Amino acid sequence: MKKIAVLTSGGDAPGMNAAIRAVVRTAIYHGIEIVGVKRGYAGLLKKDFTDLKIGSVADIIQRGGTILRTARCDEFFTPEGRESAVNNLKSTGVEGLVAIGGDGTFRGAVEIDKLGLPVVGIPGTIDNDIPCTQWTIGFDTAVNTAVDAINKIRDTATSHERVFVIEVMGRHAGFIALAAGLAGGAESIAIPERDYDINEIVARILRGQKRGKLHSIILVAEGVASALEISQKIHKLTRLDTRVTILGHLQRGGTPTAWDRILASKMGSEAVNLLMQGARKRMVGIQGNKIENFDIQWALNQPHEINMDDYILSGILAI
Ligand code: ADP
Repeated sequence: MKKIAVLTSGGDAPGMNAAIRAVVRTAIYHGIEIVGVKRGYAGLLKKDFTDLKIGSVADIIQRGGTILRTARCDEFFTPEGRESAVNNLKSTGVEGLVAIGGDGTFRGAVEIDKLGLPVVGIPGTIDNDIPCTQWTIGFDTAVNTAVDAINKIRDTATSHERVFVIEVMGRHAGFIALAAGLAGGAESIAIPERDYDINEIVARILRGQKRGKLHSIILVAEGVASALEISQKIHKLTRLDTRVTILGHLQRGGTPTAWDRILASKMGSEAVNLLMQGARKRMVGIQGNKIENFDIQWALNQPHEINMDDYILSGILAI
């Protein structure tokens, strides 16, 4: 393999830059030319390519976002769009592609591979909702951002003896809510994987108050209900002073944690190794402390569930 390309697509995640750096430097280390594609699959269609050198990825390991930018691309859903995208890569002499992104990006990657261009996917999303990997790049940073926010809100919640409902990202999966709730010591956590019971949330708040607790933190994944709605229900049932904080896109930004940088470095490097070994539509993942790889299509059909034991534990510890 003489020339490969790298792109970031879908939702951005802290650590994507560290992954780009690892892909670029591993490729150059092995004497492979590397092309950066701007704005994901949209850039493939527009032939928005840029040659990447060792220095192109200097000073980015600590930066959130993605220097290659990212986008969502509707044209890529059409066979004509995909064909033109792959032809653009092939006519530039590109023989393999590293696609960094979430499950949508992976589905697109499978389609590219079908058109004869080998692709390796790297899981980059704050949501951690990709099967076959215990961690996705960006998840740890997003959880730390949420925990940092919880710590700060806890100060004011205690001072004013208020109930705070904090909404975190997670439309279909409660990974961020569960991890941040466990690490932040939330009284209750509402996740999409489980129906929430407002009476149980209220009972927990009242139990805490009875033993002199000055504040309550309720963590809600956005896919469950709006934090405002839950807060209004709590107020109606308890008449307590309730407030809402929606963390929103704060969770997407910021300097990646050491863990996300390490993960991105290992996964980025492995993706290039896999292309060099002739891999087709594989994704890299981490299981235990080991970087593994899987067929993307197969992986996307595997179950990937939150750890219910952690959910139960958070309830026990918030007694
Ligand atoms: P993420 O990768 O973060 O899950 P999206 O779901 O928005 O983000 O997907 C990113 C892009 O991947 C889409 O805008 C589209 O261009 C491409 N894509 C997603 N799903 C498919 C699919 N089934 N077939 C072809 N391309 C897809």
